[in-house]
Amino acid sequence: MTTLTKNEKLSQLFPEDLFLQATTLTDGEIDVLMELEAAMEKHLRPVITEHSEKGLFPFEAFGKVVADVKILSDDRLFEDKTAENYVHSQYYNTYLYYVMARFDVSMATFMAVHAGLGYYTFLFGGSDEQKAKWLPKFQSFELQTCFALTEPDHGSDIAGGLATSAKRDGDKWIINGEKRWIGGAGSADLIPVFARDIEDKKIKCFVVKKGQAGLRVDKIENKIGLRMVQNGHIYLEDVEVLESDRLPHINGFRDVANILYATRAIIGVLAAGNSGGAYRAALSYTSQRVQFGKKLTN
Ligand SMILES: Cc1cc2nc3c(=O)[nH]c(=O)nc-3n(C[C@H](O)[C@H](O)[C@H](O)COP(=O)(O)OP(=O)(O)OC[C@H]3O[C@@H](n4cnc5c(N)ncnc54)[C@H](O)[C@@H]3O)c2cc1C
Repeated sequence: MTTLTKNEKLSQLFPEDLFLQATTLTDGEIDVLMELEAAMEKHLRPVITEHSEKGLFPFEAFGKVVADVKILSDDRLFEDKTAENYVHSQYYNTYLYYVMARFDVSMATFMAVHAGLGYYTFLFGGSDEQKAKWLPKFQSFELQTCFALTEPDHGSDIAGGLATSAKRDGDKWIINGEKRWIGGAGSADLIPVFARDIEDKKIKCFVVKKGQAGLRVDKIENKIGLRMVQNGHIYLEDVEVLESDRLPHINGFRDVANILYATRAIIGVLAAGNSGGAYRAALSYTSQRVQFGKKLTN
């Protein structure tokens, strides 16, 4: 078996990277991304068009991808083995979303909610104990999370408008309200719900668990884009959350804004990945398509 050099691997993985930006990735990160791309081709490619058409998420095939490749927890992603392995390098993060969006932007969006917005909510908001309990399980996909901020009546004005309420009752909280557009909410094991404390009026974050009494998640149907992403409308009626399941480091919209800030660049990466995918597909098609006896491109 021949071993490829770093540059050979990069030119296979990112032929469109004309300015050689991806050389900042480590060898280990490049290997994981190459394995991810191969696993997506193997497991997702055969089923993706049908799922997109039907507006379904390919849970079974995605499960096979993350069983084949530890895209968030592989040892090769963490050079400093002594640190708590909670965050990847920004380069890896960028190219992870790029590679996924180049393959399919719905898959990348699902990841951006689970491993971006949702993950960072726990990373920034959780106590050391909560982080140790949940973050490794999000990395291994044993548990899925999401990010429940936007409401039916509050989107752009969510900072001041957030209407979902939280009322303290001894060692627990009672949550009431609605959330809309929440990606992956229907399948999430843990839903971090942002609600306003009726006492001090501050926004806090409460971990609601799948199947809890008073929780209902309806799928938003008939989308024209990102059809595989399951966007949910969440109803919360007297949902009880223990104080120990409140994320203690979220105490106002400033803390929510930090999560949005830390993950905002991913949205740009999704757009770049989408363009990269369109470019590669066009190149591949025109280099095979013959018209008037000649290939359209060389
Ligand atoms: C596919 C998808 C996935 C999503 N995933 C999630 C998720 O996982 N979690 C989550 O919490 N939310 C999610 N959202 C919600 C998203 O954050 C909101 O849609 C977004 O914040 C905009 O809010 P809105 O839809 O209420 O639009 P609005 O705020 O009502 O805006 C409507 C229009 O008015 C404009 N506008 C708003 N305010 C002003 C102003 N003051 N001056 C001028 N123009 C203005 C806006 O630019 C926009 O064009 C998702 C949305 C979509 C579509």
